[in-house]
Amino acid sequence: MSLKVYSYDLKLDVDFRNAVVRGREEVTVQGARAPFALDASTLEIESVSVNGKGVPFRLDKRRAKLIVRDVPQRKSVVGISFTKKVSDDVIFGLYKSKYGGDYILVTDLEPAEARTVFPCVDEPGYKAVFRLQVTTDSNLKVIANTAVESSESSPDGRTKTTFQQTPRMSTYLFFFAVGNFEERSLRSDGVEVITATRPGQAENSQLVLKVVADALADFQHYYDVPYPLNKLHVVALPEYHTGAMENWGAISSRESYALINENTAFAQKNRGAMSMVHETAHQWFGDLVTMKWWDDLWLNESFATFMGYKMTDRIRPEWGTMGVFLRDETFRAMEQDALSTTHPIQAHVRTVEEAMHIFDAISYNKGASVLRMIEGYVGEDAFRRGVSNYLRKFSFSNASGKDLWSALGKASRLPVTRVAREWLTRAGYPLVQVTTTKEGVELSQRPFRLAGKAPKGVWPVPVSMKCDGKQVSVFLDRKSMKVRTGAKSDLLLNAGRTGFYATLYDREGYERLAASFTALSPMDRAGVMNDLYLFLQGGLVEPEVYFRFVSLCGGTPDSITTETVAEQLTILDAIAWDSILLQRVYPRFYPPLIEKIGEDRRPGEPEYIGAAREDLTTGYALVDRAYAEKLASRFDHYSELDPNLKGAVAIGYALTYGEKAKPRLFDMVKTLQGEVDRAKIYGALCSFRDPETVEETLELGISGEVSRSDSGYPLLYGAFNPYVRDVFWEWVTRRYDAMKEMYAGSQQFYLYMSRVLAVCGVTDEAKVRRFISGKRLKEGGSSYTRALEHLAINAKLRRRLLER
Ligand SMILES: [Zn+2]
Repeated sequence: MSLKVYSYDLKLDVDFRNAVVRGREEVTVQGARAPFALDASTLEIESVSVNGKGVPFRLDKRRAKLIVRDVPQRKSVVGISFTKKVSDDVIFGLYKSKYGGDYILVTDLEPAEARTVFPCVDEPGYKAVFRLQVTTDSNLKVIANTAVESSESSPDGRTKTTFQQTPRMSTYLFFFAVGNFEERSLRSDGVEVITATRPGQAENSQLVLKVVADALADFQHYYDVPYPLNKLHVVALPEYHTGAMENWGAISSRESYALINENTAFAQKNRGAMSMVHETAHQWFGDLVTMKWWDDLWLNESFATFMGYKMTDRIRPEWGTMGVFLRDETFRAMEQDALSTTHPIQAHVRTVEEAMHIFDAISYNKGASVLRMIEGYVGEDAFRRGVSNYLRKFSFSNASGKDLWSALGKASRLPVTRVAREWLTRAGYPLVQVTTTKEGVELSQRPFRLAGKAPKGVWPVPVSMKCDGKQVSVFLDRKSMKVRTGAKSDLLLNAGRTGFYATLYDREGYERLAASFTALSPMDRAGVMNDLYLFLQGGLVEPEVYFRFVSLCGGTPDSITTETVAEQLTILDAIAWDSILLQRVYPRFYPPLIEKIGEDRRPGEPEYIGAAREDLTTGYALVDRAYAEKLASRFDHYSELDPNLKGAVAIGYALTYGEKAKPRLFDMVKTLQGEVDRAKIYGALCSFRDPETVEETLELGISGEVSRSDSGYPLLYGAFNPYVRDVFWEWVTRRYDAMKEMYAGSQQFYLYMSRVLAVCGVTDEAKVRRFISGKRLKEGGSSYTRALEHLAINAKLRRRLLER
């Protein structure tokens, strides 16, 4: 008989001011084997009983297990009394999310932190019912996965709140929060959607409230499975270590995602809304049906990622969200998946820690991109039906990737399992080379790598081509093939950009592409720039070819291409700020585009233009002194500016007034309420050319004086400022341990650091490598090995650009 966990009855007494929780728990299990062990960590266990009788127990701290001998195999109740003292220093598990002298006590339990809140079988496959009762001060509000069932005064004048029983669910999705909350709510298709914020912020949650309500309603149609609970919270947290989390019925989120409004810069607004839709997608895919084991974590995340964009595009078509998908998911994945440190999406995972290390941006971004490719392959309707059948079949239970492919295969009558296997079990992706011939073109494929030796292999590539205005589809499942295309005007591969491959043209191909460049769709144009940038990094095209196309982009103000290229130029500036080629291209790219879209919002313009405005103006302010000065003059009217322009104006002000600008900027970063607004000021403070200011900003980020969620901003912005690099790096090495401690083992720290590492050592690789070696390299796992490989590529690219 294998172990079954039926239920957790949790009675928690929360001493809020002292941040101590006294717990009384009853776990109902069947099939226990001696010695029976529950996961338990950082808990003090006072007593244990089995079926009402006190029994001896032992805490194995090293393995984080509570061992109880003699639990009978038959259905039995294990009773545990325990105490949890909340540490002041951590920002996950059960922690204090602090703000202005107060805090919210809140849980964040994925992947394996439930064991730090109550003893449990802390694996996703052991789904159980939760019955929760929380007693705490009457002036506080308690939020949990389910709605309140009853609430009564306890004899000591506090309040005892009992929550409705949850459906069967995994421990990592358990949630509760205690604090002073302000709420707003909306009914959506019979479900109450509620946002909860710290006092004074509720109005800023209205946009997310509407977005989540709309998404929830549309998901009920899309999945064709009713939302399994009767309420859904979004809890905005002033301190949060990642982005957001899909706790069932109670999404938790950092404030910058949940507190957005019509005045939030578009990119941030879109990102915030989209991540809330992502967490809403998980309420079914992840929460209702959960992966059997963490080896399918990638699928859980990839699916919600793809669906987050797709659904945002359905409910807010005017936002152009699928263009963002291309840039933030597909392009990002293509860059990382071309490193020798890449890995197949699918991997064998033994421990939770391994899953957290193995599944990274490659898994999620590429996974989401491959899902989009599979949707393209089977068709939107069959994809939806397959997903719906899968969710019905495995409701309140667990499933694996295999089950999804099989459901999609059945719905489409196509060999989805085979196609999925090819793309999931092999690392990397193909480069498709196009050679123009007399009769048409020859296509050939080879595995693409930015550096190092590429592996062998042939992918089944569905290629969609555009030739002379006609769409041609071919299936490239061997090394090369000839395609007769007739005439020879325009030519484009991967039209629509659903394919996960890069296209390299010959000289004639690039000439034809340049001639028709402005007529391409925005997604296609952005795709060309993505591939060219990869080839620039990999040394497959001359820098002049790339820069020629950057100049062409100056003539076509579409948002997605503009943002793609502006981001490339920002990275190039961080690694080769003194390159003449780069300095020459700036005036051909930035000013004509800024001129075309304008610095101020124009009546009737599509909202997504705002994101291009933000990238263009901040990018140009950082590299052109005269432009920075021009923007600085608008700082006096900062609060009235188009939010998309604010970041650039703050940078202009900083660069123009230097020392004189400091007090005001520091004052703003300490007093501004919104994280998004503060982020812009961090950007300005980190653009200073004097290293002391940047150092002060970095120090402020981890001082505790500002929200700990802020610490990533100075780190990332500072790393990209080439003028203060020595002092910046010295600070990072000196404060590395303090930062690490603040993140207490969270992957987020290594992700931030990996971005820092990849640019910081371009003039002295050895220095960075020396620091990130041994124990540190091991801790940072694949994030660090990848960052070091990226660093080598960046350093090489710098040398190539400076040779010219
Ligand atoms: Zn997710």
